This record gives sequence, C-alpha cells and structure tokens, in this order.
Amino acid sequence: MKTNPLLKIASLLTAAVIIAGFTASASAAGPMTYLPVKSAKAASALKVGSTVAFSCDKCRAVTVMAVDSKKSFLTGITCPSCKQTFAPNMSSGDRRAGTGTFTYADKAGHTGSLAAAR
Ligand SMILES: [Zn+2]
Repeated sequence: MKTNPLLKIASLLTAAVIIAGFTASASAAGPMTYLPVKSAKAASALKVGSTVAFSCDKCRAVTVMAVDSKKSFLTGITCPSCKQTFAPNMSSGDRRAGTGTFTYADKAGHTGSLAAAR
C-alpha cells in the first residue's frame, strides 16, 4: 500500500495545531497552583515579572499580581479589597529548615501571606 506524502504532511500539521491549541488553552484556562512563600529570603529571590498571590486574612481576599521591578511587595502590600496596609515580617519563616511561612501584619494584628506561582 502506498501512502500519499501530502496526506501524511497534512495529518502531521493537524496534530501540531491540536497540540499547540491544547497547550495554549491549558496555560490560559488551566488551574494555577500557588505555593506559600516560606521565608523573607525566598520572597526576596522571587523574579521580577513572576506571579504572586497575596492572601489577606482580614477580608479573605486573594490578590494575584506580578512582581514589579522594585519588588514593592517587600516593603508592604495594601489589600485592594479592604484597603488595609500590611507590612512584611522580614524575620518570619524558618530560614534554616526551609519551612514556615513568610507573613505580613497590619497595625491591628491581622495577618497576610504570600504565595508564588509554581
Ligand atoms: Zn483585605
């Protein structure tokens, strides 16, 4: 049996388009996992342009944002939902063990935490 080379190319192209389409839709609409930032050192090491999520424990809002060039999340975050301003606790997290959580706190004692896109 003889295979038509043009048909073979057409089916390869179709497969490529399907794979490309699947990849694009998976990255656009697929689930995103954010892992807790464990220490101030890990927070400082986050790359500019990467995605982080701030979780406000006062109003329970989760805000997803890109790390800006100044890494302003290291100086403080204002929750867009409840307008509360949080300061980072630069000594939070256990740097030696690599466990724990990098946390934020406002003046009233509410806390917040940061997670980074995996
Ligand atoms: Zn809030």
